Amino acid sequence: MREKLQNLIDRLAAYGAAAVVMDWDISTGSAPEEAGEYTAKLLGILAGESFTLSTCEDTVTLLKECKANPSEDEVERAIVDRLWEEYEQIHSIPRKEYQEYHELTSKGMRVWEKAKEAKDFSRFAPVLEQLINKTKKIKGYQPRKEGHSLYDMMLDGYEKGFTTAELDCFFDGLKKELLPLVRAISEKQDAVRTDFLSRSCDVEKQKAFNRLLSEYLGFNLNRGVIAESEHPFTTALHNHDVRITSHYYEDMVISGIFSTIHETGHALFEQNNSDRITMTPLAGGSCAVHESQSRMFENMIGRSEAFWEPLYPKFKEMFPEQFDDISLDVFVRGINAAAPSLIRTESDELTYCFHIMIRYELEKLMFDGEVSVEELPKLWNRKYKEYLGVEPADDAEGILQDVHWSGGMFGYFPSYALGNAIAAQIYHTMEKTVDIEGSLKAGDLKPIREFLREHIHQYGTMRETKKLLLDATGEEFNPDYYISYLKDKYAELYQL
Ligand SMILES: [Zn+2]
Repeated sequence: MREKLQNLIDRLAAYGAAAVVMDWDISTGSAPEEAGEYTAKLLGILAGESFTLSTCEDTVTLLKECKANPSEDEVERAIVDRLWEEYEQIHSIPRKEYQEYHELTSKGMRVWEKAKEAKDFSRFAPVLEQLINKTKKIKGYQPRKEGHSLYDMMLDGYEKGFTTAELDCFFDGLKKELLPLVRAISEKQDAVRTDFLSRSCDVEKQKAFNRLLSEYLGFNLNRGVIAESEHPFTTALHNHDVRITSHYYEDMVISGIFSTIHETGHALFEQNNSDRITMTPLAGGSCAVHESQSRMFENMIGRSEAFWEPLYPKFKEMFPEQFDDISLDVFVRGINAAAPSLIRTESDELTYCFHIMIRYELEKLMFDGEVSVEELPKLWNRKYKEYLGVEPADDAEGILQDVHWSGGMFGYFPSYALGNAIAAQIYHTMEKTVDIEGSLKAGDLKPIREFLREHIHQYGTMRETKKLLLDATGEEFNPDYYISYLKDKYAELYQL
């Protein structure tokens, strides 16, 4: 039985890894331009094979046997439970439809890319409609928890345990506490200098600095690589092959820097998955917890003065002409500036959650409400005006900016906002036992990494987010830490 179970886990991991490599090739431009359609077919087949393996009679018999004779080993029990859960989620979906869905998501991304290039939502609208309908149909085959709406099911697919009711409450709190702050800051844009951040910096030098930065944070390049893609991301075959991308713009040096720090936060999670859980269904991390790690490194650590104290001289050495006249204090204030803007991935820490809120509200309408695909761009623009006071000039800087919906990822966005709040909660706990500021000033991030490895990274997805958080912090999910962190930080920065 044990041997059979191991064999099943290994085969599923191999299918998954093959898909990861194909996706990586497409996303980093390693695959030729015209490979798309053909590779999409292969990805569909792989998903189909994985589906068959997860739901075939042999697997079901094996899993039932394992459940009837539970192992003494906690990890093995968790793997069996996860495989069973996945079986229950997908076995009632006809294989043909499952495969078609995966092909459609692959097609969706290609259509979206072209539509974004043309800044024309109407080119993407038909495939978005198909994606929404197909997702609804697929969800219709799956068991629905009592009291759950369709959108609750979507949320559960990415972040188990969080419902629309809880998220409504979470976002209402953010709106109430942070919107006045966003308004106040919009009025005081002169309080923080940011002009020097657009000084032209050689891209090759930026790449060298970002590599140094990623290693400084603890990314092990013997078990990882850094490449480039328009939208930075992290992926992994296992804890010995973790891949991140970043992007570089000559006149936006910090865009690359904070993308690299963000993705390195994800990469540390993947590299520090324990050997027991890597290449099993428990590998990786839940969406929100993963995002908590990337955002903690990007914002709470990466934008602090203590972090830059040892690094800034190295940065200035690399870009003397651009930054010689800029003191550490001015630099740190500049990289923390906030202003309402249109693009989520370039937005600051304070306004970020409003970008997520807008997507969340639209997704609720798509799945639980009544809205036609044609109406979406108008609604999008209206909400941007309402919350952030800005309006997109075209669809590319509006509704077409994110890849997620084109890949069928509805219900994913809220995990980004949850991740920020979780980061603040974990950071608050970490401060009690780790001298974070001291470690950063000394240029030694090991105590921070060790804390995160011990309490978060090693477990992958073995523990559900709410349980992981309770174990790590001794408290239920509590967004108050996030709210007060932002309020304190921005009140000081903008002298409010
Ligand atoms: Zn991320």
